[in-house]
Amino acid sequence: MQLFRLTAHELHGLLSNKEISAEELNKAVFDRIEAVEDKIGAYICRTKEYALERALAVDRQIKNGEKIAPLSGIPVAIKDNICTNGISTTAGSRILSGFIPPYSATVVNKLDAAGAVLTGKTNMDEFAMGSSTENSAFLTTHNPWDTGRVPGGSSGGSAAAVSAGEVICALGSDTGGSIRQPAAFCGVVGMKPTYGAVSRYGLIAFASSLDQIGPLARDVTDCALMLNVICGHDPKDSTSADFAVPDYTGFLNEDVRGLKIGVPEEFMAEGIDPGMRASVESAMTLLENLGATVEYTNLPHNKYALSAYYLIAPAEASSNLARYDGVRYGYRAAAAEDVADMFIKTRSEAFGSEVKRRIMLGTYGLSAGYYDAYYLKALKVRTLIKEDFERALEKYDLLLSPTTPTPAFRFGEKVDDPLKMYLSDICTISVNLAGIPGISLPCGFVDGMPVGLQLMGKYFDEGTLLRVAYTFEQNTDYHKRHPEI
Ligand code: GLN
Repeated sequence: MQLFRLTAHELHGLLSNKEISAEELNKAVFDRIEAVEDKIGAYICRTKEYALERALAVDRQIKNGEKIAPLSGIPVAIKDNICTNGISTTAGSRILSGFIPPYSATVVNKLDAAGAVLTGKTNMDEFAMGSSTENSAFLTTHNPWDTGRVPGGSSGGSAAAVSAGEVICALGSDTGGSIRQPAAFCGVVGMKPTYGAVSRYGLIAFASSLDQIGPLARDVTDCALMLNVICGHDPKDSTSADFAVPDYTGFLNEDVRGLKIGVPEEFMAEGIDPGMRASVESAMTLLENLGATVEYTNLPHNKYALSAYYLIAPAEASSNLARYDGVRYGYRAAAAEDVADMFIKTRSEAFGSEVKRRIMLGTYGLSAGYYDAYYLKALKVRTLIKEDFERALEKYDLLLSPTTPTPAFRFGEKVDDPLKMYLSDICTISVNLAGIPGISLPCGFVDGMPVGLQLMGKYFDEGTLLRVAYTFEQNTDYHKRHPEI
């Protein structure tokens, strides 16, 4: 039995019945990491010793006859922009190399309390800016389905690790698609919860009004189990919502009868690969056959989403990244003449080119004289986009689209053309602007590469998305296929 291939809920059964030990499971995962990591490059840092120690503690609990929680003993990887006490956290940037956080993010503490075992920190685009993980300052992550292609980004390390069997579940962050797009490219499930559903305390900020932490997993059930642990109010994050967290596994019933699903035409139009469109159309047919009503609808302002996002996100980033000045964290340039020179040299030497581009764009958009024309206007457009979604979601229970316009692209294909790279987020970005939840799940293969179906829901209605995703999954087998590495 290849333990590293199983899901958390399958492994929980085996652990509870004492058919396997947590030590055995974690060793199997680390053996797998050693076997394939050279080809994949999912991790920036691994925590093997710590993991095996934690696994032994879970085994002691089982031996003592204690009932263990669903994620207890399960290997989980964390994107490297989520702070882990005593464990290096870089956000994929040279400016944070050597930074060891003195505290853990709330989500890390919650996973820890739930018994999950941290396997390490996963690779990402620097400060989560990118769609291919090519912007990492440290290493290249390869798509497990074809190592000549990108895993997507910015949570590319987390998606590749889950897909390659280098971990069972992972956390990512999603500001404009960074969980859903890599999940689609690597053939796994990824969810961006409603803005405010998960605490961002300890998440290294990129664009604070858009950032949200969420799970990447092998199937919808594991995604629900992860949500059960990470969702909920946190007094340490003023943007976290105070809501009653349901048991998300309660929504995993195989029934979509009577649900009304809208498919925004804007997400199926220009630039969408024909194979991609065909996969989504067969998903629509399947859901219809299972009893849902599926029809086309419109989000008229969606055409402005990319422009609004690439003003708002860089504006917030330029402010959030001002703190990296060589004084308080990580990298500091040597041989500076004075303080101002030290700031300039540190930031010039340690930020990568995409991050610099965003800081310049954002600073420009916020500057006196341009603020009204760019930033303020983008905020107004954001409201129109949000209202489009609210209107559509009054009529429909959820919306459906492809997660990405194409399957995973090749290395170097877009990295020198920022606009081309930005366009790969066309289907995911407006979900963040609206603040609603979105999930991507495997829905087929195009050119031998997995592709994703995106479901978008009402605020805090992750449940309906899980219900539809689960039903789709029970009636297909895409999630059961594994890449040969
Ligand atoms: N690819 C988008 C960007 O570069 C989104 C990134 C994200 O969601 N973190 O900004």
